[in-house]
Amino acid sequence: MGLNVAKLRSETPGVAHRVHLNNAGAGLMPQTVLDAMVGYLTREAEIGGYEAAGEAADALDGVYDSVARLLGAERDEIALAENATVAWQLAFYALDFQPGDRILTARAEYAANYVAFLQVAKRTGAVIEVVPDDGDGVFDPEALERMIDGRVKLIAITWVPTNGGLRNPAAAVGRIARRHGVTYLLDACQAVGQMPTRVEELGCDILTATGRKFLRGPRGTGFLYVRRELLRTLEPPMLDHFAAPWVAPDRYELREDARRFETWENNYAARLGLGRAIDYALDLGLEAIESRCRTLSTSLRAGLQAIPGVSLHDLGPDPASIVTFTVGGRDPDALKARLAQSGYNVSVSRPSSTLLDARARQLPVVLRASPHYYNTEDELSRFVEAVSAIA
Ligand SMILES: *Cc1c(COP(=O)(O)O)cnc(C)c1O
Repeated sequence: MGLNVAKLRSETPGVAHRVHLNNAGAGLMPQTVLDAMVGYLTREAEIGGYEAAGEAADALDGVYDSVARLLGAERDEIALAENATVAWQLAFYALDFQPGDRILTARAEYAANYVAFLQVAKRTGAVIEVVPDDGDGVFDPEALERMIDGRVKLIAITWVPTNGGLRNPAAAVGRIARRHGVTYLLDACQAVGQMPTRVEELGCDILTATGRKFLRGPRGTGFLYVRRELLRTLEPPMLDHFAAPWVAPDRYELREDARRFETWENNYAARLGLGRAIDYALDLGLEAIESRCRTLSTSLRAGLQAIPGVSLHDLGPDPASIVTFTVGGRDPDALKARLAQSGYNVSVSRPSSTLLDARARQLPVVLRASPHYYNTEDELSRFVEAVSAIA
């Protein structure tokens, strides 16, 4: 079940121009994703936006089935959003916090999520507590279990953070959340498209993810999963007449399905691109994708590790395909620019994106190289040589 890398590269226009190691930022779209979007936009221009949506109604509807298949969920548990942040916010702000309610989170939590915790804590008197990690810097489920009591309203963690390969034990957290009947919100942005993401195995009640990263979909796409039983109890913080049809002058009726978290107007071209990207990943198989990502990122780490002056910063025994490093006292932004001139796309990760983790580890700005299955060993060795030459 190995991947045909040559074929997959021939289906990826971007690989002809760059060595793209910024899949944690935005993966290169395959041609088929581009075709779905450009084809749709062309129809909007040719016959009109409403008319194009009518013509593509089945395909647009099928995007929900694609997301549901990806997650092992039901289509009525899925909402589409313009990004993962909005999907996360809509679900989080629908929860009803009382003074003293506890929100348990992880040290490597994403900045957007933590800022929302802070706002809700300020407004409601809920308290935020960070679950300690084990000796390896990985979220510690046993510590979580010890912290649970009747005041824990929410467990909200990031599976794979933006600032490194750390893979938090999302499924172990889910088992604890289920056992104690605590709502569990999982940010799967860097995991989805890179590894199997099955909500039943993860045990999460809410999951959010983005289309643009390892899924290789377009920017400005995201989705939300809410488990059906929880969904019925959640009223979104903002509503329109799509989420809740206006059925009488003094009354609206909330939709039954997760699309109560959507609004009326949408970027349909982007939605089709997202659906196509998901189908593409499912056709390849997430196990095969994960395995190749593991091989490539392991080899990249080994190559970088061997360069004098390079330090790696990824945590945990089995890191995901996000490789963070620094090069002796060199400025990461300048290095990123130098590498870009030579055709290598990487990004930098700043302490403010995962502030608690960065402070705990005294992390500076780090370079972030995130290979995907369509990268090659040859690209990685050339990249390592380029870093070595600069170092
Ligand atoms: C990128 C990212 C997000 C935000 O996703 P958007 O689609 O840009 O809103 C959230 N959480 C994590 C961990 C991310 O890496």
